[in-house]
Amino acid sequence: MSTISIVKCLEYEKELVFQSVHELLDRLGGIGCFVQSGQTVLLKPNMLSAKSPLQGVTTHPLILEAMIHEVQSVGGEAWIGDSPSGALKGIERCWENTGFLEVAEKTGARIIHFEAGGTKICRAGKEIYHLAKSVMEADVVINLPKLKTHGFTLYTGAVKNLYGTLPGFQKAIYHKKHPHPDHFSRVLVDLYGLVNARLHVMDGVLGMEGNGPATGKKRWTGLLMAGSDGVALDAVAAHLMGFRENEIDAIRIASERNLGESSLQNIEILGPQLKSLRFKDFKLPSNRMIYLVPQWLIRLVGKMLWVCPQADYEKCTGCGICARSCPVHAIDLIEEKPVIDNRKCINCLCCNECCPEGAIYQKLSMLAKYFG
Ligand code: SF4
Ligand code: SF4
Repeated sequence: MSTISIVKCLEYEKELVFQSVHELLDRLGGIGCFVQSGQTVLLKPNMLSAKSPLQGVTTHPLILEAMIHEVQSVGGEAWIGDSPSGALKGIERCWENTGFLEVAEKTGARIIHFEAGGTKICRAGKEIYHLAKSVMEADVVINLPKLKTHGFTLYTGAVKNLYGTLPGFQKAIYHKKHPHPDHFSRVLVDLYGLVNARLHVMDGVLGMEGNGPATGKKRWTGLLMAGSDGVALDAVAAHLMGFRENEIDAIRIASERNLGESSLQNIEILGPQLKSLRFKDFKLPSNRMIYLVPQWLIRLVGKMLWVCPQADYEKCTGCGICARSCPVHAIDLIEEKPVIDNRKCINCLCCNECCPEGAIYQKLSMLAKYFG
């Protein structure tokens, strides 16, 4: 049986967030159950790209600050680290725009640049990963995911948030190597197992619906959730959004590998009843339609359907970041505008995540995979 603590928190007001985070952890026995005095604690927020907190893309800085406060209250040494895919314009912009830099300065927490700190070679089955050294060297890792949909994997939460422990272009390489969501989710689960975070605290105050994780629609979902089992946390969050049990590949695969609990029957909720919390008319990603089609029909027509990234030329400034971040070189910059070759595209959404203008969106198209 896994346990997930849930507290309602309707806005990012400092006193409210600090109280809510404290209550959330108190129900799990308090921060002292996870961190001891003198331990180094790496906090891993979702710093997807250089977005400001109220765009709903990144973990809100007040959640990070409240968690640092908790860690420091029991004598832990707080570190903050992430490796965002959208850092091609400089990682400093990400730290600044997300508000994490200010939190670090205010609290004395140490910012860890995963790219600069070296890596540690870790093996999971046949795969070899170069994980950020600080992630493997910290005494404790605390994961701070954001509640969002994802156009490729359908959902992003605790398990997927740890993808950022792979520094630099490795992330694009694994996207290229595993273009199918099911195969890619096995990578996510490998990393989840290797990182072995002790606690997961999800920022679900302002979430994202539709075609997340960067250009979906903001949605005030008003919740904070936490537990030591990130798979159970994801199972609960996915349920509240409206996904079916085990619909999300990463949750199902992690549970099959006994890394966590995916069945709601075996998850104890500390807080309001789940049925009172389900988000009404929550918009799921367009790609989900393809997943719902029976396998025989997918074999027949499924390949004709494709959720394509498209550029909005009104918003696009022609910076070229999307073209440089595409792992399969499917984007050419022609007259300072990105032109996407859908025949090459593996739908990893790196371009969508890294575009500073939010100019890449997702559109369900017929036959685009064949005719570009
Ligand atoms: S879509 Fe335009 S603004 Fe966005 S990353 Fe590509 S070139 Fe830059
Ligand atoms: S065009 Fe965008 S979604 Fe397609 S492979 Fe390139 S980065 Fe990924």
